[in-house]
Amino acid sequence: MLVVEDLQVSYGTTEAVRGVSLSIDAGAAVALLGANGAGKTSTLRGITRLEPIKGKVSFDGKDLAGLAPEAVARLGLIHVPEGRHVFGDLTVHENLQMGETAKSGRSGWSFDDVYDLFPALVPLRDRLGFALSGGEQQMVVLGRALMAAPRFLLVDEPSLGLAPVIAHAVAEALVEVRDRMSLLVVEQNVHLATQVCDRAVVIAEGQIRFEAESHELRDSDELLASYLGQRRTGAGT
Ligand code: ATP
Repeated sequence: MLVVEDLQVSYGTTEAVRGVSLSIDAGAAVALLGANGAGKTSTLRGITRLEPIKGKVSFDGKDLAGLAPEAVARLGLIHVPEGRHVFGDLTVHENLQMGETAKSGRSGWSFDDVYDLFPALVPLRDRLGFALSGGEQQMVVLGRALMAAPRFLLVDEPSLGLAPVIAHAVAEALVEVRDRMSLLVVEQNVHLATQVCDRAVVIAEGQIRFEAESHELRDSDELLASYLGQRRTGAGT
């Protein structure tokens, strides 16, 4: 469904993404893992045309060359950026409503579906965006993306800066979302990413270093240590 061929993204002389190729089938959920500065965010931004690229990205057989990011979103390839860009002067409900602008006639998520997924937002529906906690903001940006009726959702570091219990709630929501669309999730939290996704792709210095089924990566101290500098939860303690 999403085919990325030899993707390159550069900022001046910095080559952030150096020839990434990926193919993600309809209904699949893939984690893109890597250390700080590995090129994960730039990969997502290149796919959704937020940065100029070399290489080719196709979605559902359509070459995205020349499309503006808004046009990419209207196809149902929806990007949830890092950093929780909630509209501070709009309420939670109005923020969700904004998602409908990219819906483009597709049927998908209703307000009720989003509030069912994130019950914590129900009592907050009239609260302004700037008065939300980080976790609440993450739920709003995910909910807003769902209101656009995604066919494919790209999510950048959903757990960044969240308390473990909130990150867990976000992961559980993404597990539900996974049953209704394809996913590409950028994370540094390997445990969250491998809980949500079936397959993991590890990048370093803008290139793919390793691909595995999530369980292989999660269960291998050697892979975690060599590619991500991490250990299994609870291992050796
Ligand atoms: P993080 O987990 O820290 O967000 P990342 O894996 O998402 O990292 P990127 O944000 O894609 O990595 O950055 C890849 C490289 O590109 C880094 O060297 C970074 O400093 C550089 N870079 C990213 N954005 C810009 C920019 N707007 N201008 C210049 N260099 C940039």
